[in-house]
Amino acid sequence: MASLHGNSNGQQPTLVRCPGAGCTWTSTTPSMLGRHVRGHDRSYACSAPGCTKAYNRKDALNEHEWAAHGLNSIWICYFGGCKRKGYGLANKSRLEHHLAGHGISCEQNCELEEQAKSAAADANMASGTAVGGADEEDPADE
Ligand SMILES: [Zn+2]
Ligand SMILES: [Zn+2]
Ligand SMILES: [Zn+2]
Repeated sequence: MASLHGNSNGQQPTLVRCPGAGCTWTSTTPSMLGRHVRGHDRSYACSAPGCTKAYNRKDALNEHEWAAHGLNSIWICYFGGCKRKGYGLANKSRLEHHLAGHGISCEQNCELEEQAKSAAADANMASGTAVGGADEEDPADE
């Protein structure tokens, strides 16, 4: 009986390494490499000074910039308690699209936002003390 002594059918798992510079990632599943390498694609770098965060997805970056640095705009739909929100300037068109579903415009949403803010301020005022100093305009000084 001749025993086959070849292990050419890949019994030993092959270790694949990430070609990325300085990356120590390895796997025994070659198909994982593509996925991993895609994760290296950090095209969307945080624009805040000193921050080294980067993401491979724009929405992830937007969320980070907004949450960590208060960058970018956040839009909130104020129509009828909808409160849909999104991050980033790129979402402006999305907001417009969303608001169109309510049959309102961005300008109208802004008005609703003002109303929501003043309503919140009123609620604060009602529970707090009256506003002390009058916020008068400066007398015109020539
Ligand atoms: Zn890697
Ligand atoms: Zn950042
Ligand atoms: Zn809405």
